[in-house]
Amino acid sequence: MKRACLYYGEALGRYGFPQGHPLGVDRQGAFFREASAHGLDKLVEVRAAPEAARDQIERFHTREYVDMVRHAERDGLEFLDNGDTPVFPGVYAAGAIVVGAALDGLDQVMRGHCRRTFQPVGGLHHARRESAAGFCVFNDLGVVIETLRSEHGIRRVAYVDIDVHHGDGVFYPYEDDPDLIFADIHEDGRYLYPGTGHAHETGKGAANGTKLNIPLAPGAGDREFLEAWPRVIAHLRKFEPQFVLFQCGADGLDGDPLAHLTYTPQVHAHAARSLVHFADRHCAGRLMAFGGGGYDRDNLAKAWSNVLRELATA
Ligand SMILES: [Zn+2]
Repeated sequence: MKRACLYYGEALGRYGFPQGHPLGVDRQGAFFREASAHGLDKLVEVRAAPEAARDQIERFHTREYVDMVRHAERDGLEFLDNGDTPVFPGVYAAGAIVVGAALDGLDQVMRGHCRRTFQPVGGLHHARRESAAGFCVFNDLGVVIETLRSEHGIRRVAYVDIDVHHGDGVFYPYEDDPDLIFADIHEDGRYLYPGTGHAHETGKGAANGTKLNIPLAPGAGDREFLEAWPRVIAHLRKFEPQFVLFQCGADGLDGDPLAHLTYTPQVHAHAARSLVHFADRHCAGRLMAFGGGGYDRDNLAKAWSNVLRELATA
């Protein structure tokens, strides 16, 4: 058995927006070239993704929203939201394949076929139950959370997000859910989309205290991240999750065209290694990592290769 499964292939490569959009279809290839140049593809099982069925997508999303995406081309919609997430040819199928990859990964982990997965095309953490947002059509993370609960009886799920943007599409749907253990280090919302994730947002009602938001000031780098990281691990320990989801967006790296943090790829190696150890000790090893954002190709190739190396060898 390989320790890690990697989701990669032509079908997944179709998730991306045309005409110079920052989330273009070339990101998967940029990552895979770097990973294979270091032989990482030989250390993992590379799997192609099936398309998710609509009832699987509807475990998280509303029927009305799924219909809207399904008919977006026929209806001549230009955007799925107010301007960030354009309709493109095959948008429904591409979104459904991202979800299909996540569900296949979850299946492999639960069956013990692999301990961990990496879904570089995935981690679409801005999509809400009833809408697209921020380049995200279907929220694969939300579908995995719902599937863990409805199909596998696993309720207490840790969600850790180091993408430079706040994971609002996971935070708000579970803001009052005490069993979704949330930790997110991101650029301060006063300076960056989506404008949320303030330190005082700690969860509502019975969930108060189960959410940890750590905003960093523009310009912050490895030092600030590494200072904050032990709080993430302490937070997870406190609530004893049964499964770890890791959104490892690479847009916090220095030089990203959409944001203002200055991480090096060491941040991704450190966080991945730490979460692998946590999952091994507390969650029977069960960990899924998702690529998320990252718009400088060289940055995302290096950061995600570091993640994959840890998943494959730690
Ligand atoms: Zn992002």
